[in-house]
Amino acid sequence: MIIVMKTGATKREKEEALGRIRELGYKPHVIHGSTRDVIGAVGDEREKKMVIGAMEAMSGVESVMPILKPYKLASKEVKKEKSIIRITDSLSIGGPQLIVMAGPCAIESEKQIIETAIAVKEAGAHVLRGGAYKPRTSPYSFQGMKEKGLKLLAKAKAVTGLPLVTEVVNPESADLVAEYADILQVGTRNAQNFELLKKVGRLKKPVLLKRGMSMTISELLMSAEYIMSEGNLSVILCERGIRTFETATRNTLDLSAIPVLQGETHLPIIADPSHATGNRNYVAPMSFAAIAAGADGIMIEVHPDPEHATSDGPQSLTPKNFSALMKKLQLFVEASGREL
Ligand code: PEP
Ligand code: MN
Repeated sequence: MIIVMKTGATKREKEEALGRIRELGYKPHVIHGSTRDVIGAVGDEREKKMVIGAMEAMSGVESVMPILKPYKLASKEVKKEKSIIRITDSLSIGGPQLIVMAGPCAIESEKQIIETAIAVKEAGAHVLRGGAYKPRTSPYSFQGMKEKGLKLLAKAKAVTGLPLVTEVVNPESADLVAEYADILQVGTRNAQNFELLKKVGRLKKPVLLKRGMSMTISELLMSAEYIMSEGNLSVILCERGIRTFETATRNTLDLSAIPVLQGETHLPIIADPSHATGNRNYVAPMSFAAIAAGADGIMIEVHPDPEHATSDGPQSLTPKNFSALMKKLQLFVEASGREL
């Protein structure tokens, strides 16, 4: 539920409210407003009535309302203004700046990742992507360089200064990945791995949550809620294409998910046209379309030699393709009232 504190509620009254919420077995999440604080309290829905009664009686409390949506902390009911998520001291997502994340599907060698990092940085990317742990559909496909790959990513960051987004595939390796990553990616195949979601919810790094390939928008928000309910409110959602009957593209980029999500949540939303289309020829047009639809960023696969990539070569852009895309992107970014 949402507990709206009175304007001018004292520190002590706020602490008492927080204490009471905890006593009742609920978890409080404070959202600081310009004139008053709001507390999102989440817990067993069956106890709702009792908790509302108890909280309404408190002196610093103005009003108590149930949150009607099944996702609570992710919903606009709790927080109307958009969340701006800090990635580094000088970079955040969800504000006026459109964020571009680019890099290879998988880290393959020092030369490959450093070369790509320098190229995407030069072209204007803000974040370097690259998988060290690869959740592949086949157990016989390349599974990633694992910790060695993380170390190469760290080198690429040292060379370019680009922050890193990389995937975490299980709770066991999450702490290790978090030592290197600036953003933890949860991939489509793990989007309803609730133990993993809870684990990244306890880490202090922003999470890029991809939509499961057969997940509804509401289910995506419930997965975000798993992360947030553990205390990590820094969740970035990613539309990366869903399974449909269409076979001309790898998936179908659900562009309408972007405005739908914006109506439902304060969390930033990015699009991944590489995995959505599976074909490098469609990556640029779908990037432009995603920006027009209101995305806060895009994620694009770039490889210096796509023909020899260990994974996702057909959808990977060359550095040259990427640089051309970035130039054209500028127009769409400006047209949508944002900056690159
Ligand atoms: C990836 O980003 O490399 C990836 C595996 O994406 P997805 O989880 O969307 O398939
Ligand atoms: Mn990929």
